[in-house]
Amino acid sequence: MRTQCDLERQLVAIDGRGYPAYKSLRGVYDLGAFELSIDHVQGDPFATPSLVSVQVPAARAGFAREFYATSERCVALEDLLVRRFTAAARRVSFRVRGSGKSGLIATSSPGPEVLPRSACEVGDEGVLLRLEMGFPAHGRTVDARALATMLFDLLPACVERALVCDDACRCAACEAIELADDQAAVRAALARLGLVAFVADGSILPRESGVSARPLRGAEPFTSPESLSVELDLPHRGRMRGLGVRRGITLIVGGGYHGKSTLLKALQEGVYNHVAGDGRELVITDATAMKLRAEDGRAVRDVDISPFISNLPDGRDTHAFSTEDASGSTSQAAATIEAIEARAQTLLIDEDTSATNFMVRDALMEAVVAADREPITPFVERARALWEERGVSSVIVVGSSGAFFPVADCVVQMDCYRAFDITERVRKVCKEHGVEAFGTKGASAWSESRSGRFLTLSAKAFRRDERGRGPKVHAHRLDSFSVGSGEADVRLVEQLVDSEQVAALAQMVRLLGEERLLDGSRSLANAVDEVYRRFEHDGWWALAARGDVACGFALPRPQELFCALNRWRA
Ligand code: ADP
Ligand code: MG
Repeated sequence: MRTQCDLERQLVAIDGRGYPAYKSLRGVYDLGAFELSIDHVQGDPFATPSLVSVQVPAARAGFAREFYATSERCVALEDLLVRRFTAAARRVSFRVRGSGKSGLIATSSPGPEVLPRSACEVGDEGVLLRLEMGFPAHGRTVDARALATMLFDLLPACVERALVCDDACRCAACEAIELADDQAAVRAALARLGLVAFVADGSILPRESGVSARPLRGAEPFTSPESLSVELDLPHRGRMRGLGVRRGITLIVGGGYHGKSTLLKALQEGVYNHVAGDGRELVITDATAMKLRAEDGRAVRDVDISPFISNLPDGRDTHAFSTEDASGSTSQAAATIEAIEARAQTLLIDEDTSATNFMVRDALMEAVVAADREPITPFVERARALWEERGVSSVIVVGSSGAFFPVADCVVQMDCYRAFDITERVRKVCKEHGVEAFGTKGASAWSESRSGRFLTLSAKAFRRDERGRGPKVHAHRLDSFSVGSGEADVRLVEQLVDSEQVAALAQMVRLLGEERLLDGSRSLANAVDEVYRRFEHDGWWALAARGDVACGFALPRPQELFCALNRWRA
């Protein structure tokens, strides 16, 4: 392996030359404290920065094996190291100056969720951290002296400060892995106790604002009503009390602005673990739970929405429904069927983001518009069968209609941000009004509905160009991504929480397209499984487009890959 001396000599040789001379630096160097790998060199100072990784040997990094003994601990430790490196890099980024991105030193900058990221991998070999660097230039000429400062001075300082297990780092790591243990224990308890979610007492659910992920200061901490509370024994925090949302159908009701949507949002994000201090670190939801919503205008392909919609006025078959422009109700019907296909065990629905006609229809409307003129069987008539026949639970926020009362197993009222169990009262009121509690209206439609779909991705969208280069891949924050000539709008896929997940989704779709894994011979579910099998086996290399792995990817759930493929337009 080349040494620091070799690299220094090479830097002297290219100083002052044209920017492409930097390309000669590609390779791996032993810098003593760590190995430096220059994986990709940017074409000019304004282009996407260069990709670099550092490998700190286990003996130098000093993390005992127990720190990464379980997958949850490993992800938590990697997340911590990324955060530490980002903080260290901020102090030295652009210390060296020049044109374009000269002097940049950065890696992923996680939000409150703890996700597996390509930025860091910890294992028996030590700590691998991937980052971006802006190789410095005067105009378009190589400033090798400045790069020497970055590589031999600033970067080692970041590595030392962030990735080496000194006392402070050990403390932080212990805290992170203990939280990860506790979160894993809550997740395991959900299945054991028949819960779809746990919301610990004392949790802070609301955020500072609609555009901030920070906890709202001065918020009312969550407290579970006595009758719905469960107590869990966690390995580190010990006994924790909180709301246990049981499987079945749960309603969240209450007046406007009393905290209903805030609770549901916390549940939908509880599929991910959160860092200490977030306020939702012990809000844990069934990992398969999916938020469903209306999304008019979205594309739908070949979805059997017949349990909800039949007899469309244009005579279209709803057993294999496709459209480039779904309505509110058809989009939500499709999302529901797609969620079942994506193996969601829990559906999360908020009336704020639902199509009213998909959710309920009242008696007066039924009296005026005859049933045979109405294509929609509302969700309220299917929710019970969904639970009893398919085992799929629902948590539904409703403030405006009592129509769901008869089908609910449990009703939580939010009142001034406090939760109350009003299930008994609701039963009494239903009885007084002669409404049969827990009725299943309408025959079941689930047995008839097809299960697996065999979507195809048109190979045309993924064609290589004349020079044999693969399709271009772009990800646009949380909004959309494109691969070749196809794209997916994921703006309303609410459980995508990090733009790096969208970047990873784009690579997953590229993989499926380029390798013809969705050519009609296997089901969508099978293809999604194949992607995750490869990830399990090869890690981030499974998603590498160019033969090197970059920072900037975070792992989405399989559910979100389903969502992305369901929204794909070629
Ligand atoms: P709803 O869906 O019932 O209309 P929201 O959940 O949207 O109400 O909450 C309304 C407002 O109350 C939001 O601005 C939210 O941030 C705030 N809020 C929610 N929960 C709390 C809480 N526990 N403490 C303080 N403010 C809260
Ligand atoms: Mg609301």
